Amino acid sequence: MKYKSYTLSNYSTIPQINKLSKESKRNIETVSSVLPFKVNNYVIDELIDWDSYENDPIFNLTFPQKEMLLPHHFDEIAAALEQSTDKKYQKEVSNKIRLQLNPSPAGQKEHNIPVIDKVKLYGVQHKYRETALFFPSAGQTCHSYCTYCFRWAQFVGMETLKFAMKETELMVKYLEKHQEVTDLLFTGGDPMTMSYKVFKKYIVPFISGHNKTNIQTIRIGTKVLSYWPYKFLTDNDAEDFLRLFETITSKGINLAFMAHFTHSIELKTEAVKRSIQKLRNTGVQIRTQSPVVKHINDNPEVWSEMWREQVNLNCIPYYMFIARNTGAQHFFAVPLFKAWEIFRKAYQNVSGVCRTVRGPSMSCTPGKVQILGVSEINQEKVFVLRFIQGRNPDWVASPFFAKYDEDAIWMNTLKPAFEKKFFFEKEEFKYFRENYYDSERVSFE
Ligand SMILES: *Cc1c(COP(=O)(O)O)cnc(C)c1O
Ligand code: SF4
Repeated sequence: MKYKSYTLSNYSTIPQINKLSKESKRNIETVSSVLPFKVNNYVIDELIDWDSYENDPIFNLTFPQKEMLLPHHFDEIAAALEQSTDKKYQKEVSNKIRLQLNPSPAGQKEHNIPVIDKVKLYGVQHKYRETALFFPSAGQTCHSYCTYCFRWAQFVGMETLKFAMKETELMVKYLEKHQEVTDLLFTGGDPMTMSYKVFKKYIVPFISGHNKTNIQTIRIGTKVLSYWPYKFLTDNDAEDFLRLFETITSKGINLAFMAHFTHSIELKTEAVKRSIQKLRNTGVQIRTQSPVVKHINDNPEVWSEMWREQVNLNCIPYYMFIARNTGAQHFFAVPLFKAWEIFRKAYQNVSGVCRTVRGPSMSCTPGKVQILGVSEINQEKVFVLRFIQGRNPDWVASPFFAKYDEDAIWMNTLKPAFEKKFFFEKEEFKYFRENYYDSERVSFE
């Protein structure tokens, strides 16, 4: 299968496009002037049911919807597109709107950038002690774009993650110095958009025998299995990738795909099943994760079916996330209490082998906060929370409480219960400031 992608400039050549209403097309054109839009032939031909596209989860996952922009933003950009031919002006309007959509959530831009030899490693994020994230510049795109993408700003040029080849050397140096880092996570975008030739140059320096780091697990954050499973089946370099993975796993390194699956539909094609099998045969481990989002997967049956299907295919359910506070969050947001209900109902309906999953979890500035549930203490209704990951490792696994709030969709509006401040607010990110980088006092979001 040959990969073919569509963006705003050529989407009218999608064979099924005449199924769309005029209104849908106008919405796509308007919204994608602000938020990124890209889709490919596999998603179009094998995942979307075009006869009921308006309720189709994968259509909603990849095609922009009108309500993804707030009404006044939609009208503003629509007017700029319709009433002016001045491209520069249109771009100004787009960028003005983008800046109001919290383009870099959870302090990613300022607070997680490590330093070595006085050089800031842009393209690296080190937030949790054991795990460093690495954004190879050549992997800063995806095979299709998710409408709820939390890294959307990268794809419209709002944030440039500059990462040159020579910086893999600096990264190796950083990891050699920081022996506490056991996990290296390649992320993006999607690192699996890289060709074998390019990817190999990025990964080889991190494989044992090539350095003195303490890396034991290499993870690859990717949606390739949902968006382009032919990567490991029919692409020219499919076999090269599989052999490389085999080489890595045979060295005793745990190579894990952190596979993003949003809906069980993505697990049903022959292509995805074969691709998973090929990867598993090389010794690659596959762990799965996704946010819970309205209009796509805000339903416990979808999740229990997805987890069961994943386990049947030899994948390990890992995380259910809450959609981050950026971009089109208002459209996709599921209230926290509801996300927990979806999680709980889905979790109750699967056997123990699926219950490796954790969530629902918010990746916010202090860490990954899991909603353990809603409870009542001294007649006060509360959320019971805990850190799955914390900027300070000591925070992990201790329960804490927030006042119950039916409308809350993110950590930033939660208020502590029984105390004035959350326990971690008092520390002002001292741990990481002392150990890794200079960080001003930050508000948490
Ligand atoms: C989720 C995440 C990780 C990985 O955390 P695990 O719990 O080990 O999967 C690492 N860094 C950042 C910034 C993350 O958000
Ligand atoms: S796969 Fe991840 S980075 Fe790519 S568009 Fe989807 S959410 Fe964004």
